[in-house]
Amino acid sequence: MMTHPNFDQLKDRLAGIVPEFELEAKFELAREILELKREKNAVILGHNYMEPALFHTIPDHVGDSLELSRVAARTDAEIIVFCGVKFMAETAKILNPGKTVLLPSTKAGCSLAASITAEDVRRLKERFPGVPVVTYVNTYADVKAESDVCCTSSNAVAVVESLASDTVIFLPDEYLARNVARETGKRIIFPTLDEGAPGELGYEMIGWHGRCEVHERYTVQDIEDVRRMFPDVVILSHPECSPEVVEASDFAGSTTAMIRYVEKTSAPRYLLLTECSMGDNVMAAYPDKEFLRLCTVRCPHMNQITLEDTLSALKLGRHVIEVPEDVRVRAATALERMIAIGPSGKRD
Ligand code: SF4
Repeated sequence: MMTHPNFDQLKDRLAGIVPEFELEAKFELAREILELKREKNAVILGHNYMEPALFHTIPDHVGDSLELSRVAARTDAEIIVFCGVKFMAETAKILNPGKTVLLPSTKAGCSLAASITAEDVRRLKERFPGVPVVTYVNTYADVKAESDVCCTSSNAVAVVESLASDTVIFLPDEYLARNVARETGKRIIFPTLDEGAPGELGYEMIGWHGRCEVHERYTVQDIEDVRRMFPDVVILSHPECSPEVVEASDFAGSTTAMIRYVEKTSAPRYLLLTECSMGDNVMAAYPDKEFLRLCTVRCPHMNQITLEDTLSALKLGRHVIEVPEDVRVRAATALERMIAIGPSGKRD
């Protein structure tokens, strides 16, 4: 559970990250939101990619998809306000259907989630009958409903290894799939839906060409340029980056794994190859550590969630997330299997 800072604490924490004049207005909005939240018995969940003034003021819980899913599943609050993108709010509704789930903006989508439809998954299953389907949580409810188990970037390898199957369909992130294949030593193919019946199995993973429009932009050249200027930098990347970028980094892991890495190590300086606001939020949380900024990449979908829209969401009870019950039940099974495997692969 997060504690909400007073204005002076917030000013100190975000000094050099958010200009003070901007912070005053945002703090006032945050104060209104917190008051309304208490009146309405709501809980606010904030993804690590929320902009710093929002991230450090209103959420009761912050974290990555898996952590926030777990909180959403067990909350007693009547309303869950999800400061994240649509697939995350859907996940909260799937896991805790008796609650009202609000997403502050209808424009908060995701390039990965939009890369695949439930019909695509059904066609893949027809083409590869009996092969279990692992789906990244960054997908919409109807896609999850067609899947055997979901995964996050923190437990993707553990989920794949937990299946008693030589071959696995892994959707929809091409780079996460390639990184999992690399780590597990599996051979991977990316078939089209129009090809005929598959020939002899010369592969162990079947992937899809979805990409995160943020993480796909980082290149090995970026890493080489930074290392030339700062040879002692420790570079952390997200597994939605290309395998070449992951290979050239010092550490790769989910947003939470990156935060823990920074917390537990004492490098002269760090560079986080991930979403910009996440970089700002980590900088604010660890003022004694030095960070390099290579930040031109803000997720346009996460960026839709503002304090203004969160206030309207609470005032007007919008935008309510609905998931049809037959889809919800099947998607919940895939998500609950993922949650049982946990972040590190240990069942709990
Ligand atoms: S950062 Fe990438 S995966 Fe996350 S919401 Fe944005 S586009 Fe989707």
